Amino acid sequence: MHRLFCLLAVLAVACTNGEAQSPKDESPPALDRTFDAKRAWDHLAAQVAIGPRESGSEGAEKTRKHIEEALTAAGLRPVRESFQSQTPIGPIDFANVYADLVGTGGDEQAIFVIASHFDTKRLGPDFVGANDGGSSTAVLLELARVMATADRRPVTYRFLFLDGEEAVNHSWRDPDNRYGSRHHVEQLKNTSVGQRVKLCVLLDMVGDKDLKFTQDEYSTTEVVRLFEKAGKAGGLGKHLWAKRMPILDDHISFSEGLSIPVIDLIDFEYGPRNKYWHTKEDSLDKCSKESLEATGRLVLLTLPELEARYGR
Ligand SMILES: [Zn+2]
Repeated sequence: MHRLFCLLAVLAVACTNGEAQSPKDESPPALDRTFDAKRAWDHLAAQVAIGPRESGSEGAEKTRKHIEEALTAAGLRPVRESFQSQTPIGPIDFANVYADLVGTGGDEQAIFVIASHFDTKRLGPDFVGANDGGSSTAVLLELARVMATADRRPVTYRFLFLDGEEAVNHSWRDPDNRYGSRHHVEQLKNTSVGQRVKLCVLLDMVGDKDLKFTQDEYSTTEVVRLFEKAGKAGGLGKHLWAKRMPILDDHISFSEGLSIPVIDLIDFEYGPRNKYWHTKEDSLDKCSKESLEATGRLVLLTLPELEARYGR
């Protein structure tokens, strides 16, 4: 009787343990599900709280410090790339920030750049660039955390925070724009690291509550299709695509300077007829946590497709 009771007790414990450790509970969540929209939103709110973040300003420097602290907290090593450039209002001190997440293949493997500009356009003290500058920087910081926390990937990723995307003058006229990306690409050209850069994914204006990505005509068609395929499979099809048009942005520096495939993930319809863009209406209340999350998940869902196609 006593022995039987013991046996039953042992079986009961074994059964309980078995239930607690079902295979379902052991498998980690899919990578895209680990993107934390709250963390991304906090990064966005922190940038808006700084105020205007024009190149060469105190606000830009505070933003860089925020970026460097977040990257360091994620276990990455931020690198500052400082330079001075002539602009229509005289020389400005610029600085990009980047961090590399080395993949499983070490120093020989392909590098994918994921980029966002963090500067805001020179539009006076009321312009805080929640969407234009803030949103993509917030998503990129959370992407860096998620990817640095997960298993190493088959390619090396460079998280690149660009200064000086915005034209200093009101209108966009070369070379008064893309100061940071042009400089970064110039440094990469004809170097062994530069030869390993195989892809650039640019994020810009990804926070709009009504998020519908524009199909940019300067983006590489095949990269666009891979994002579309992965996005639709992941239930994000409603964000792809609103309209088709050519967009001039930091990705042009990479396609022209390094002759590599690129994509600009941008929603260039911010408010009716894009009316919030480059106005003081570009504020936190026009953005949503859900849109930051959709963008982050879209990138994470597409990584395996991009690695299979461009990672060797
Ligand atoms: Zn802008």
